[in-house]
Amino acid sequence: MEREVSFNEISDGKLYELNDLVKANCNDCKGCSTCCQGMGKSIILDPLDIYHLSKNLNKTFEELLTEYIELNVVDGVILPNLKMVGESERCSFLNEEGRCNIHAFRPGICRLFPLGRFYEKHSFQYFLQVHECTYKNKTKVKVRKWIDTPDIKRNEQFINDWHYFQKDVQKMMKSAQDDQLNKGINMYIVRNFFLLPYNITEDFYEQFQERLVRAKYELGVEEEDN
Ligand code: SF4
Ligand code: SF4
Repeated sequence: MEREVSFNEISDGKLYELNDLVKANCNDCKGCSTCCQGMGKSIILDPLDIYHLSKNLNKTFEELLTEYIELNVVDGVILPNLKMVGESERCSFLNEEGRCNIHAFRPGICRLFPLGRFYEKHSFQYFLQVHECTYKNKTKVKVRKWIDTPDIKRNEQFINDWHYFQKDVQKMMKSAQDDQLNKGINMYIVRNFFLLPYNITEDFYEQFQERLVRAKYELGVEEEDN
């Protein structure tokens, strides 16, 4: 999601790589679940998140939509996000003890928090969101350890490819100024990257790359220097 805020206002002014130490360690969130509640539609899910949820919960994308996730428009593109439910707007996966029921396969944004990603020149680095986590005595931890993501290099490549594909599509839709065409593009993206089931016994990243190549070709997406 694009944010119209000053980088220095929301961060400590630094950018981090995987092996850098960052003051993000909030004692494994013991006793706190603040950022699993009241997050509105901001926990946006990517195709890898859907792959993990489908695989581990044994549910199709449509079944996930009936209970745990919803679709919304993000910067012109329709994407899924985690659904917040009830009066206190809790994530559907937050249990009564205030812990995450899907910790082992939680979405990428949940792994990252309170870090964020800063995209520039077809790449990205990490930054610390200084106003997001309420835990007072955070300690330093390596970015790589904090985000705890297997196959991290391929994961970073996927994150980057997905981000810049969306940027290219957003530009395309903006310049087209054609509601019908843009609706069709959005339906294609939902179908190609989310509705069409992934083979959960096979590698995700290869399947994603195939779909990405096909989508760029079929939608006529022109890659630009973002
Ligand atoms: S606010 Fe900080 S300590 Fe609390 S759940 Fe979120 S990341 Fe964990
Ligand atoms: S998936 Fe887990 S970590 Fe993420 S918001 Fe829900 S309960 Fe919190």
